[in-house]
Amino acid sequence: MKKLQINIDKEATRAYRLKYEQQCSCAYCRNYNKTFKMKYPQTSKLLTELGLDTDYPLEIMPFQFDHRSNEKEYLSFYPVKGTLDEHEINLVSEELAIHIFKGSHEKNPCPNPQMEEPYILIGISGIRLPWVLDEDPE
Ligand SMILES: [Zn+2]
Repeated sequence: MKKLQINIDKEATRAYRLKYEQQCSCAYCRNYNKTFKMKYPQTSKLLTELGLDTDYPLEIMPFQFDHRSNEKEYLSFYPVKGTLDEHEINLVSEELAIHIFKGSHEKNPCPNPQMEEPYILIGISGIRLPWVLDEDPE
């Protein structure tokens, strides 16, 4: 993986998460938190290096449930305190598309965090997680 042209304040990112991010109690989010780190260990490690915890996303969007594979599709976003030298960075990690972009981007697809600018958003798409809860996934 190439060196990211990204300047992060890991401590501020972590402090923000502890202060503002709350875990959602809906079935989609609980399933995400139970399975993400197990399914995507390298990506989880990358997020940890940025000061994040995969269990505390800014936003999770659940998509289709695949009955054959028993997997739920998701898109998620995480906020990082810092700046980006480039306009945006796109990475592929464990078959996930990771989109790193400036938080002030006008087409910001997720709700704004209560974080002061400048900040960076990390969007992860292509997430497919096994459904491990007893509840119905739909
Ligand atoms: Zn939720």
